[in-house]
Amino acid sequence: MSHQRIKKISDTTVALGEGTPGSGDKLALSPIYRNIRAKDQYASLEGAATLYESFKRSVHQYPTENFIGERKMENGRAGPYEFLTFKQVEAKSRNLHSALAKLGLKPKDKVGIYSHNVPEWMMTIQAANRYSLAIVPLYDSLGENAVEYTINHSETGVCFIHENKVKFLLKALPKLKTLKAVVVWGNPSKDVVENISKQGIKAFEFSEFCHSGEANPLEPSPPKPQDTACIMYTSGTTGNPKGVVLTHENIVTAVASLHAYVHQQKIEIARDDSVLSFLTLAHILGRVVEEFAVSCGAKIGYWQGDVKKLTDDVAALKPTLFVAVPRVLERIQQGIQGRLRSQSPVVQFAFQAAYSWKRFWMGWGWSASDASPLLDALMFNTLKKAFGGRVRFVVSGGAPLGRAVEEYCSTVLCCPVFQGYGLTETCGASWVALPKPGNSGTVGPPLACLEFRFQAAKELSYDPNGKPPQGEICIRGPSIFKGYYQDEEKTKEAFDDEGFFHTGDVGELTSSGCLKVIDRIKNMFKLAQGEYIAAEKLENAFQDCSLVEQVWVYGNSYENFLVGVAVPDKGELTKWAKSNGLSSDLKQLCNEPKAQQEVMEQLNATGKGKGLRGFEMLRAVHLEPTEFSVENDLMTPSFKLKRPQLQKHYQKLIDEMYKKAKK
Ligand code: AMP
Repeated sequence: MSHQRIKKISDTTVALGEGTPGSGDKLALSPIYRNIRAKDQYASLEGAATLYESFKRSVHQYPTENFIGERKMENGRAGPYEFLTFKQVEAKSRNLHSALAKLGLKPKDKVGIYSHNVPEWMMTIQAANRYSLAIVPLYDSLGENAVEYTINHSETGVCFIHENKVKFLLKALPKLKTLKAVVVWGNPSKDVVENISKQGIKAFEFSEFCHSGEANPLEPSPPKPQDTACIMYTSGTTGNPKGVVLTHENIVTAVASLHAYVHQQKIEIARDDSVLSFLTLAHILGRVVEEFAVSCGAKIGYWQGDVKKLTDDVAALKPTLFVAVPRVLERIQQGIQGRLRSQSPVVQFAFQAAYSWKRFWMGWGWSASDASPLLDALMFNTLKKAFGGRVRFVVSGGAPLGRAVEEYCSTVLCCPVFQGYGLTETCGASWVALPKPGNSGTVGPPLACLEFRFQAAKELSYDPNGKPPQGEICIRGPSIFKGYYQDEEKTKEAFDDEGFFHTGDVGELTSSGCLKVIDRIKNMFKLAQGEYIAAEKLENAFQDCSLVEQVWVYGNSYENFLVGVAVPDKGELTKWAKSNGLSSDLKQLCNEPKAQQEVMEQLNATGKGKGLRGFEMLRAVHLEPTEFSVENDLMTPSFKLKRPQLQKHYQKLIDEMYKKAKK
């Protein structure tokens, strides 16, 4: 890489070189960018090159401080959080390590985990790190086929599993070729353990298993930075999941760059901070957040594993960091709006006026906590209290966060909302947005662990040297994964000759050095008249329409217009129905042509307001009362639409919509 022609783009981004002609004309002359902090070197975690060392460092610094906690049940109700200290977790991980060795595992072997987030997850991570084992998480919400595929493909020999997942495992068991032992957590009855044993697999209850390692404590066999820390299977929208191999160096670098980021923001994360663990540890976002907390010595409180009890857990833990996927933040917004709708018109008016006033000052650069202290005291602090009252900032990641939701959450929760962008392959967040006016809608500058460039996408008119620069986001650096497990072909496809990983996402660089994710290469299709459609871009634009919760846009390449399926916002649509003398039953409303027409018109008006062109408008909309979800297989566990599945599911309706719209 050429470092000669360094050109500063902004205070946060610097262009380092001009790209090498000869590496394919698509890449020629595309500048390479870095965070200015990484101009000469990438971020690193002082005194820790592996996750094992990061934990050891915190055990050394905060031996008797609280680390991981959960709520014990008392008379059928969840009590207050009870914590284990860093030293106690270290002792447990030593026993667990010894028990795993006794079972016959060797360093570099794989350990599966199939459970929602619980303290035992973290203990197992620490035991695996102590013994240089690689963790293979099984997505909590994936069904039996994915479990079978992941265990077999990764050659996992031992699996830690929550009692409530045993039934899925038992179904898959006859097809699991490599699995030799299962350790069950979550207070399983003897029957549960015996049932597994009957299938010819060794089975243990978690605490008994830990106990079995106590008599023969082993010294650690720590990993090297290049050793595999975990293999994360990504939820592909088509085909089998791919095993992303992440090393200790990858994750430590990602964590170090988050430290550099918060430092840059003059935010101190310390012992007093806490995070609620509910984002699955099987996804990179959840894992990196917890590794970050470990490295800061912050507390982690585990949820009860039930979305309905999430607000109760938040109130009990009073977290200072709230990390969520956009869907959760959207739900929070909808929840607050729903509660408001049941208030008197005077209260609704007062809230709207207060909201607009605060937004006005935030638009001038005031922070969410300083823009209107009086209104916060009178109105917004009540909402903040529902979040425990201590949240210092919210982080959103895993999928695009709508600008309206970002602004709403920041305003009513009186704290900044940082939007992160990244992939499992890039070890989670690779960009994090700066909470400054004008940066809303971007994912900010790159973190100090990578360099990136754009690759031209000529047929889509994305030009890396245009104004603004646009193209497929390509990333290189120590946080980028090493390859897909046992899949040389897909690994080769993912990287170019210069070692850049091609994300498949299309980005645009703003004049302030921030990145906007504007499109996906793979979700492009052409309409019959030759116009390219970027479905995700349209869905993001339509999403701001208050009548809908979810939208899927479909275009048949033999047709010259688009159709869509929308899940309506129940509150908003029934409000509209009432004022139009229609039934407020959602199912009935979804079949009501007037309602379909209204939603379509509102969607198109929203799209038009966002600059969408004529051929990007919808000509027919089907209303669907049941939301697209992981459970009905219409969304991936990281909340992306499963397009092929959606198409299959709605094919008949799509055909009808096209037929009707052409009449
Ligand atoms: P995963 O590997 O499951 O985390 O999915 C990564 C993909 O999520 C990326 O390739 C993006 O398409 C999408 N993504 C994640 N964060 C964002 C964001 N802030 N804005 C837009 N897309 C995002």
